[in-house]
Amino acid sequence: MKTETKRIVVLGGGESGMGAAVLAKVKGFDVFLSDSSSLKESVKEKLRQYDIPFEDGGHTADRILNADEVIKSPGIPDTAPLIVKLKEAGIPVISEIEFGGRYDRAVKICITGSNGKTTTTSLIYYMLRNEGLNVGLGGNIGDSYAYQVATCDYDIYVLELSSFQLDGMYDFKADIAILLNITPDHLDRYDHQMINYVKSKFRITRNMSENDCFIFCEDDEVTMEHLRTIVLRARMFPISQTHPVERGAYVDGDMLKVRNDVEYSMPLSELSLQGKHNIYNSLAAAVTGKILHIRDSVIRESLATFQNIEHRLEKVMTINGVLYINDSKATNVNSTWYALECQTRPVIWIAGGTDKGNDYSELYELTDSKVKALICLGKDNSKLHGSFEGRIPTITDASSAEEAVRKAFEMGKEGDVVLLSPCCASFDLFKNYEDRGRQFKKAVTELQ
Ligand code: ADP
Repeated sequence: MKTETKRIVVLGGGESGMGAAVLAKVKGFDVFLSDSSSLKESVKEKLRQYDIPFEDGGHTADRILNADEVIKSPGIPDTAPLIVKLKEAGIPVISEIEFGGRYDRAVKICITGSNGKTTTTSLIYYMLRNEGLNVGLGGNIGDSYAYQVATCDYDIYVLELSSFQLDGMYDFKADIAILLNITPDHLDRYDHQMINYVKSKFRITRNMSENDCFIFCEDDEVTMEHLRTIVLRARMFPISQTHPVERGAYVDGDMLKVRNDVEYSMPLSELSLQGKHNIYNSLAAAVTGKILHIRDSVIRESLATFQNIEHRLEKVMTINGVLYINDSKATNVNSTWYALECQTRPVIWIAGGTDKGNDYSELYELTDSKVKALICLGKDNSKLHGSFEGRIPTITDASSAEEAVRKAFEMGKEGDVVLLSPCCASFDLFKNYEDRGRQFKKAVTELQ
């Protein structure tokens, strides 16, 4: 028999699930959390603190199928048997962000894209903090959004949203939505149909009115093609590195320029994030700053002093004139494309891992001109060999970060760069991309 109080079941007890459960509890719901794997001790502790019943190591269907609403972790695909059952039973399944949005009146700046989300989200957050605003950072980063809605009182949120989170969003509305780019990724979750992935990314614009702002990249063909087929009510702020825009941000010679009601400009050379891909991230941040009336001096100082986050083209150190760069977060072809694009020295490239259906031919132009050696770091390196044999002079295999670094060290000549930019997920040899990046850095520091 159903109780009077609405029953909310949270599936998945990671950062986002735990936050959703706490928020649901604080709002007076009957809450239950279930995770098919084991929960971290810190999560269990928090759930006990809030008196939230939970189970881990498996799902008990009876305790889940009696829910009025289910909040699903972004990691669980829609095809999981339990989710299929819930949908068949007509039980709504939403994301933690959708749930959090119901109880939050703050201004929301939401960032999505195939690449650059974390960098741009962190950069905008840094700028708003520098302006002295009462701002929270959430989504895929740090404490979950729902947890902060339950326990903090921010005026503004900067939220990084993946397509999986967007998929479970219906009534949520961003005040400023940023779509950085769309390149094939995670297609396994989208029936291998690019259009499904594109539509998922565009969910970031749902429910926006003419008072809201949409920042998007006019140089991104996939974005532009889709934009031509839909009608958006939001105010449009394009960014571009190839042409001026009437309202938005663009590159003019060696200057970054923003045009809104008033103009803003600063030299590209002052940007702390270098590389073509990062210019897009800075353009998106600058135009956000102008929309929010952040002082010019603060925008400038923020874009000039922001320190990039770990594992994103992170310079580790120079040994014998060879620079080692950790770009472990590059888990798809597009992000590695940008990593190679901004190299000016001969590259010893460390790549490989779990391939998500990569088309390496997109890299040929860059690898032909820049890469002198490829070290394949994966369990199955056959696709990399097949794609690059005859194009890259030296190709060799390694089965650990330490072995890859040692081989790179032996090959390296003064003036070279050793670039870990794997193009692939890390789960074959490492726990995750952070683990891969840290093992790489450790091996580099131990070379000395
Ligand atoms: P995300 O959060 O979307 O995965 P990150 O900011 O963590 O993006 O960066 C992931 C990878 O993509 C890094 O290798 C980074 O250098 C690269 N990258 C960052 N910004 C962009 C961009 N605008 N376009 C393409 N690649 C980018």
